[in-house]
Amino acid sequence: MNNWWWVYLLIIGLLLAQWLSMGGFTAGPQETNWMDFKSEMLAQGAVDHIVVVNKERAEVFIKGEKLGQGRFEKIPKGRPGPHYFFNIGSVESFENKLAKAEEELQIDPIPITYEERVNWVANILSWLLPFAIIIGIWMLILRRAGGGMRGGMNPFDFGKSKAQLFDKDQRSNVSFKDVAGLEEAKLEVKEIVDFLKNPERYTRLGAKIPKGVILVGPPGTGKTLLAKAVAGEAQVPFFSISGSEFVEMFVGVGASRVRDLFKKAKEKAPSIIFIDEIDAIGRSRSKAFSMQPNDERESTLNQLLTEMDGFENNTGVIVIAATNRMDILDRALLRPGRFDRHIYLDLPTFTERKAIFKVHMRKLKLGKDIDLDTLAAHTPGFTGADIANICNEAALIAARNNKSKVEMQDFYDAIDRVVAGLEKKNKIISEREKNIVAHHEAGHATVSRYLKHADKLLKVSIVPRGRSLGAAWYLPEEHNIYTEAQFMDRLCVALGGRAAEDLVFGEISSGALDDLEKVTKQAYTMVAYYGFDKELGNLSYYDSTGEYSQSLQKPYSEETARLIDEKVRDLVRRAYERTKKILTEHEDQMLELAKLLLEKEVVDRKDLEKIFGPDGASVKSAQELTGSVKDGKGTSALSESSNEEPETIDEKPAK
Ligand code: ATP
Repeated sequence: MNNWWWVYLLIIGLLLAQWLSMGGFTAGPQETNWMDFKSEMLAQGAVDHIVVVNKERAEVFIKGEKLGQGRFEKIPKGRPGPHYFFNIGSVESFENKLAKAEEELQIDPIPITYEERVNWVANILSWLLPFAIIIGIWMLILRRAGGGMRGGMNPFDFGKSKAQLFDKDQRSNVSFKDVAGLEEAKLEVKEIVDFLKNPERYTRLGAKIPKGVILVGPPGTGKTLLAKAVAGEAQVPFFSISGSEFVEMFVGVGASRVRDLFKKAKEKAPSIIFIDEIDAIGRSRSKAFSMQPNDERESTLNQLLTEMDGFENNTGVIVIAATNRMDILDRALLRPGRFDRHIYLDLPTFTERKAIFKVHMRKLKLGKDIDLDTLAAHTPGFTGADIANICNEAALIAARNNKSKVEMQDFYDAIDRVVAGLEKKNKIISEREKNIVAHHEAGHATVSRYLKHADKLLKVSIVPRGRSLGAAWYLPEEHNIYTEAQFMDRLCVALGGRAAEDLVFGEISSGALDDLEKVTKQAYTMVAYYGFDKELGNLSYYDSTGEYSQSLQKPYSEETARLIDEKVRDLVRRAYERTKKILTEHEDQMLELAKLLLEKEVVDRKDLEKIFGPDGASVKSAQELTGSVKDGKGTSALSESSNEEPETIDEKPAK
């Protein structure tokens, strides 16, 4: 609180002045009243004179010879007046009363003088007090707004950066060993550490040290983890901050925090700054935003741009940033000279998943039957965070069953739980609904068995889980590119449930909501993004910059919009007809599966093989991995219909 001493000093000074003006250590006049004054002082002839102050207070001076005796025994002789005071209603009435009393008591008139006194202290205080209150409230708001401020921090540090510093005294305990897979990314960041430690090796040949590195990848792929590992291993000071911590509701705070952060980093150079979720401040300053009051964010971004290009090449500060929305970042931020290097972290591959399982199993007590290959094969499309979550879930499941070790079955259950939600065995559903769910799931399963590019079917269940009433598990294969035929097969599998209901019951239900949502999105992607429609041609309205999504206008004409809608409808219609045809041809098997589902609730691979024969070599699967169509963790679900806003199964496991 160093900056506050003068405020305290001023208040203490004023109080002191007030006290001194009241007489300080000498006792001040005693309060009395008219009756007492008249009978005890006036009548005794003890009053020397009276001073009326500010027309409201009469100060009584007692004759010197009367002091120290009788009524005035307690007032020492020689003490200067006033000795008593009392409040008078008004000067006029006081004068009248006094004149009357003098006449009544037959004494000489007492001399009265009048004085106007200004109480400076009270005046100053009455001016200062409102200001003090306003400043107090302001500080309170600042403290609350800066909620993240560490306790006891000076509110004047509001514009200072809140970055956490890892250095010699406080090290991050994450090392590169804790980051599984991501070999290329690890190599790149290791090189950055080397830039800082041995800059001459590079500058000697005329190379410039990069200023910024941006880690890009879907949520949960280990961006923050990788940065933490850099903090643990790079033996240089490491400042870690999240993009959102720059932004406050006060204009100018963000910019000053950026300035402060770079100042601190430069003081400790060579050092690393890590800004997590940089999209919070680095969003594109596109025109679409100009309608919104976002001055604060813009000025923060401008400051960041200036700092990154402002400091000398070899000052030894490297900025690492992480985001999963590179598309929305401002281009100025990504240009060479700022975030020079882009490191992409993808969803982990089979081998990487195995390695991630291994890392997270280190802390678990494992049974002998754990098979990493099977686990990795069962989790395509899962991120590192998902796998960490599965390991934890498996341990929780094993503990719930009072096991001493975590076994393979616990991992299977954990995967099921993460993919499809918790089993709700006690949920009451009517026989009629169960029948619909069984046929719906049998429809999906049957279609998937007869399509070349459908994912391999593992298991079908009609046990309610999460918000879904049934689910089918697939084993998707990993691909980077998808053909039109693969997309078409996926559409058909998704429509299998609805088509089965249509065929078997002659009426359809609301249960296909989740499927239809997927189908619609996928069909639009095929037509509008991948240019699969012949009439529309090789055009893509995909917007990797994210600018269209901010603007109100579409990048195509009304006519094209109509054509896209028409083509999408046509595509889904064709897929639906194809699906119905497959189901009609294989209706017996579908009905058999539905019957088995009603009997057993969960039908596994062995039962499926009994009905459909062994997995044909031609039965291949596909998994969507490209950005625009989200899917991946192979389930299909019959969503529960209810009066409330229909919710569908959330295929993305919670972090
Ligand atoms: P977001 O973009 O949502 O912040 P992120 O990419 O920063 O996500 P992290 O916070 O780094 O993700 O990862 C979350 C957790 O997932 C980590 O704490 C770790 O347990 C696990 N994880 C992710 N990737 C890996 C990996 N390659 N090796 C080991 N664990 C991993």
